[in-house]
Amino acid sequence: MVETQIRNRGVTSSGVLDAMKKVPRHLFIPEAYRDEAYNDYPLSIGYGQTISQPFIVAYMTEAVRPAKNKKALEIGTGSGYQAAVLAEVTGKVYTIEIVPELARESAERLENMGYDNVICKHGDGYQGWPEHAPFDIIVVTAAPEKIPQPLIDQLAEGGRLIIPVGAAGAVQELLLVTKRNGKTDERRLTFVRFVPFRRL
Ligand code: SAH
Repeated sequence: MVETQIRNRGVTSSGVLDAMKKVPRHLFIPEAYRDEAYNDYPLSIGYGQTISQPFIVAYMTEAVRPAKNKKALEIGTGSGYQAAVLAEVTGKVYTIEIVPELARESAERLENMGYDNVICKHGDGYQGWPEHAPFDIIVVTAAPEKIPQPLIDQLAEGGRLIIPVGAAGAVQELLLVTKRNGKTDERRLTFVRFVPFRRL
C-alpha cells in the first residue's frame, strides 16, 4: 500500500510514510471488509460514514507539516485512523466526532491500541475545541460549504489547516490555510470527495 499507492504518488516525508506503514488500517475497519483494508479506496465504517482512501490520509498529513512538538486538532474522528496516523507524527491530537456511536467506538479503539496522546470527544466540530486552542495543525475530514470561522481563529501563528470545501453532493476542493503574522493565506491543493460536514 505504502509503496504503490502513496510513495509513487508523491508523498515523500519519511515520518509520514513510516506512520502509514505502522498504523494497522485493518483494525479501523468493520470485519466484513477487512480483506480490503489496504486497497486504494475509502471504505464504509457504518452510520453512512467512510474511512478515507489511504493516499488522501497520507497526503493531508504531509501537507500540514507534522512534528513531535506540534499539537493537532482533527474534525471528524470517524474510525480513528487519521487520528492514529497524526498521533504517530505529532505530540498530541484532539479529535471531535459528531456521531455518538463512532465517537465512542473510535475512542475505545485508540485507547486499546495504546494511543495515549489522542483525546477524543463527541460534539460538533464547527466550534473547534477552544479550551485547547491554538492548534499548530487542524485537519478536517468532512466537507463544509465554507471554512468554519472558529477553526481559523483557533489556528496558531505559523499553523496549517487542511479542509475539503464544497457544496453538498458536489466535488470539493481541498484547501490549505496557513497563518502568518495573524493573516491567513489560502491555497487550493486538489479535488476530493468527503462526506458532508454536519451540524448538531
Ligand atoms: N478521519 C476519519 C474519516 C471519517 S469520515 C477516519 O480516519 O476514519 C468524516 C467523519 O466526520 C464522519 O465520521 C462524520 O460523522 C464526521 N463529521 C461530520 N460533520 C462533523 C462535525 N460537524 N463535527 C465532527 N464530526 C463531523
